[in-house]
Amino acid sequence: MELHCEGCGRVYRLGVDSAVVTSEAITADFRFVVILGKGDPGSKEDPDLVDAAPSGWKPSAALLSDIRRVEAALRRGAERFWKCRACGRVSQYV
Ligand SMILES: [Zn+2]
Repeated sequence: MELHCEGCGRVYRLGVDSAVVTSEAITADFRFVVILGKGDPGSKEDPDLVDAAPSGWKPSAALLSDIRRVEAALRRGAERFWKCRACGRVSQYV
């Protein structure tokens, strides 16, 4: 899944060069771990945080399953939002 930030133009390829840090999961292998608020995960008020990963980074199985979970929720029609770590813009997954 690719995400494109309309705020700063960055493209994040989830699981390839980027990670999504949901408020539901802690990704211990991710350098920029941020635990978001306790509201509804992925909501506009409590979006998933997406950040570029350090070079040479390999996603853990836990993180990949996290990404798959987000993708599955989107396929079921969930409205979910993500936040670009670089510029802070909140966008809806498309
Ligand atoms: Zn951005």
